[in-house]
Amino acid sequence: MKKVSVVGAGIGGLTAAIYLQNYGYQVEVFEKNSRPGGKMDIIEENGFKFDTGPTIVMMPEIYQNPFKDTGVDYKDYFKLQRVNPFMDVYIDGVRTALSSDLVDLASIFESQGEYEMEGFLNYLADIYSKYRNAKDNFIYKSFRGPKDFYNFKTLIQAYKLKTFSSSFEALSKHIKNPQLRNLLAFQTLYIGISPFNGPSIYNIIPMIELTSGVWFIQGGMFQYAAALEKRFLELGGVIRYDTEVTEIVVDTDNSAIGVQTTAGFHESQAVVANSDFPYTVENLINIPEKRLGKYTKKRIKQLDYSMSCYILYLGVNKNFSELGLHTIRMSEDFEGNVQAIENGIFPDDPSFYIYNPSTIDNSFAPSDQSAIYVLIPVSNLKGTESWETAKADHLKANVLEIMENELGMTDLKDHIVYERAFTPETFKHRYNSLFGATFGLKPTLFQSNYFRPHNKHSTIQNLYFAGASVHPGAGVPIVITSGQLTANEVIKDL
Ligand SMILES: Cc1cc2nc3c(=O)[nH]c(=O)nc-3n(C[C@H](O)[C@H](O)[C@H](O)COP(=O)(O)OP(=O)(O)OC[C@H]3O[C@@H](n4cnc5c(N)ncnc54)[C@H](O)[C@@H]3O)c2cc1C
Repeated sequence: MKKVSVVGAGIGGLTAAIYLQNYGYQVEVFEKNSRPGGKMDIIEENGFKFDTGPTIVMMPEIYQNPFKDTGVDYKDYFKLQRVNPFMDVYIDGVRTALSSDLVDLASIFESQGEYEMEGFLNYLADIYSKYRNAKDNFIYKSFRGPKDFYNFKTLIQAYKLKTFSSSFEALSKHIKNPQLRNLLAFQTLYIGISPFNGPSIYNIIPMIELTSGVWFIQGGMFQYAAALEKRFLELGGVIRYDTEVTEIVVDTDNSAIGVQTTAGFHESQAVVANSDFPYTVENLINIPEKRLGKYTKKRIKQLDYSMSCYILYLGVNKNFSELGLHTIRMSEDFEGNVQAIENGIFPDDPSFYIYNPSTIDNSFAPSDQSAIYVLIPVSNLKGTESWETAKADHLKANVLEIMENELGMTDLKDHIVYERAFTPETFKHRYNSLFGATFGLKPTLFQSNYFRPHNKHSTIQNLYFAGASVHPGAGVPIVITSGQLTANEVIKDL
């Protein structure tokens, strides 16, 4: 039986592992940490439970694929629940609940006049048609060589995406009201890119949120990581936790022949790296630069990296019933705030996101208490020495003050009984994300689609990649897709 080694039990690694094991290979996953899921991680302490990374479930049909495609019913592994309203957004202190009922949602735009309503419908139609194009020609297709992209059909479709303007510029063509624009602009931050300079194609994120809705996994996101692990083990796969891969071993013919781990060498016919692509090239492949192809170690450092996150996990001995599942608080100067983050500056008036799962699921906190997650987008560590604790403390105090004064959580600070934080340093060390860039390589125009690192290495045989920094990109459903595409590449070759 042919053997495949997988580096990392993140969502990309586990998905690839399930498809490959199901196909008939003997797959062994090596994970440095003690749990599945990578950034889809969990903290359980003092009676509180926190999802530490992803929280917003979009495109639930993609989550179901690894189960459906291996012949089982996903409902036996995890339970999905629709969320409505899917988000509360605070702009200038005013709360707007975004409904997943399109009729209710449209009334927000209609209330600003027929012109805004028409703009909203045009915006949806325009981005939906681009999404159809991107889905069929770019997202669910993997690229190996230039011929896969530089052909007449694909270039025409790429041109039709008209992705050269920024998300915000494309949005502004249709929507004139600044508050309404902001309602549709912040979602590109979900993949760590600014709406003010990220390619307009990423407007598909708010479009999918508005037209397909947002879902919740009962018991929390970590249930999904546990579900993937369960399916993989059922199929006969093996996972070695607390086992770090120290090298992907490449022979003199430039073929990957296995992995060196803290528990010894493991030989295999193919290696799938789910560890973040830039980290993997920089740290796990020890061959001369000229054999590395396009992505040399020198080039890796010059690439653009996504933002990072500062996340507070607060155990609170009070139930803030007015706080919904997902809340966004936008800075008064949203563009200035995003620019500050891109320029390595701690924001004075931050935009941030709050997740309050206790509002719909009582497994997160003791009764009448809440487990609250506050995510503040911040700069990654590229170009800085280290995380600046004093500035972070000031930022935290600022955020708690805003939550009390603007979001109606008046006595929040008095009720905090448990506290923990993840910083860019945590992402760097806990998950090996280069520069602590939580969403991996930034999806700029020249780091997207064909121009993102491919799922198969261009010069090293039998080496493949699944995860947020490679094609098609970051976000749980997209990373699941990456795992599927990568497994197909391995199967094609083996
Ligand atoms: C704070 C946060 C919020 C997010 N919110 C959302 C959201 O709401 N919705 C959404 O869809 N997406 C969200 N995302 C994005 C999404 O979580 C990620 O894109 C996705 O989980 C990345 O999966 P991955 O498999 O690429 O990588 P990872 O999760 O990073 O997994 C890589 C794995 O490899 C392991 N590893 C690394 N090096 C080694 C080594 N040398 N040896 C062995 N193992 C190794 C790591 O420990 C890790 O387990 C969020 C991400 C973050 C961080």
